[in-house]
Amino acid sequence: MPNAPYWVAGQAAHGGRELVVTGPHAGPAGTTTFATDADVERAVTTADAVRHEFAASSAAVRADALEHVSRRIAERAEEFARLITAEAGKPLKWARVEVARAVSTFRWGAEEARRWSGTLQRLDTDPAATGRMALLRRAPRGPVLGIAPFNFPLNLVAHKIAPAIAVGAPIVLKPAPKTPLSALLLGELLAETGLPEGSWSVLPVPDEVAGQLVQDPRLPVVSFTGSVPVGWSIRDAVPRKHVTLELGGNGAVVVGPDQGGEQSLAWAAQRIATFAMYQAGQSCVSVQRVYAHREVAEDLTARIVQEVEKLRTGDPADPATDVGPLIDEAAARRVESWVDEAVATGARVLTGGERTGCCYAPTVLTGVPADARVSCEEVFGPVVLVEPVDSTDQGFARVNESRFGLQAGVFTADLQVAFRAARVLEVGAVVIGDVPTYRADQMPYGGVKDSGEGREGVHAAMLDLTVDRVLVLTGI
Ligand code: NAD
Repeated sequence: MPNAPYWVAGQAAHGGRELVVTGPHAGPAGTTTFATDADVERAVTTADAVRHEFAASSAAVRADALEHVSRRIAERAEEFARLITAEAGKPLKWARVEVARAVSTFRWGAEEARRWSGTLQRLDTDPAATGRMALLRRAPRGPVLGIAPFNFPLNLVAHKIAPAIAVGAPIVLKPAPKTPLSALLLGELLAETGLPEGSWSVLPVPDEVAGQLVQDPRLPVVSFTGSVPVGWSIRDAVPRKHVTLELGGNGAVVVGPDQGGEQSLAWAAQRIATFAMYQAGQSCVSVQRVYAHREVAEDLTARIVQEVEKLRTGDPADPATDVGPLIDEAAARRVESWVDEAVATGARVLTGGERTGCCYAPTVLTGVPADARVSCEEVFGPVVLVEPVDSTDQGFARVNESRFGLQAGVFTADLQVAFRAARVLEVGAVVIGDVPTYRADQMPYGGVKDSGEGREGVHAAMLDLTVDRVLVLTGI
């Protein structure tokens, strides 16, 4: 079993208490150690010390480093994918997709780093400013504390590290304690780049230490991806810091009456089934709620059930498996209790509804009361509810009832319905013709309402990590 080093100021280290990483399916996936207090301090001190030098370093050198990491992930793709499967229980087919996305995320970082530039603003449009110009550049706000969740242990870490390096901001990355191994393996590739000491660290630390890092004034930016309560508690704890929150949701889909034919309804059902159950529902933009126009609701529901029943559940290491376990048994028990609660208040189970250890069977519900937790909270499990609505507008209203607003999907062949969705849905992105789970890693990504604030997506994150710095030139 590998004993992975952590990475402090760009160097491998072993230190404090042992951390045994136990995947939900195959048991121990590897070990590492929590970073010692001295190493945590060294990571922060060196990040602080290198911040000006790193911000002024050559964009070409940083872009080459990001490109190197992208290439090396691609070369070791299968190793990364199997590690993600072992530590997170993610089906291998989806782990491979995640690795391919991380290759792209680092490559976008390299491309954006090369394009990242400033603009010139003339000031002499005011006669009093004759002979003056302003050079506008984006300066890093300072060293970044990146905090990552368990469900995409490689690509969401890539979304923290690549933009930070692209703009020249040092980063201290804290991986999720349940799935730190992919981030630590990534550290091996970062160490090959020769980026300056202190420009990056990957430190597994207990949550109390993470809380202290959140408070540390030498890390003025906190980029957090994770659950809603932890995210907003961080926001409240450090009101003067720049905090980006990528949190959870209860992703919804509206299906109009006007699908443009049989094939389109088949496509909607297949996409909904796949991305409600994808990663056992453990994606922040998983499909949780479907509001289907009455004219198609019955047909669509039957098709969704049929598609869900086709999904293969089981060993995540088997490349044919579609749906694997949840991250641990406690998570599966929570999902079970929420479904039981919905059933007790009137919901009907159309398929699924059973738990075996860490696994919860892909489940389709209907007739779910709006205040049941499977509807109004984030299930983060393989559960989808399908409800009929009288109009697409009523569907949009149901989407907006939520306290969350990450992304929404709309299946319609009516352009006006699509435009209206874009106007009225209170979310970070409206996906026409597909599920809310669709994400291209280079597009701005993030939520409104309780789902968070700020944006990721490589370029959007680079803007988020930086602020306008103006240089006024006199006598030019
Ligand atoms: P979590 O909030 O339990 O943990 C996230 C990270 O925060 C972990 O690294 C954890 O160790 C750390 N943490 C916990 N308490 C902390 C504290 N007091 N101070 C500092 N750090 C602390 O979330 P999780 O269970 O790992 O991830 C699942 C959640 O993440 C879901 O809600 C999901 O929707 C959300 N998520 C959001 C996005 C997005 O981009 N919007 C992407 C993936 C996951």
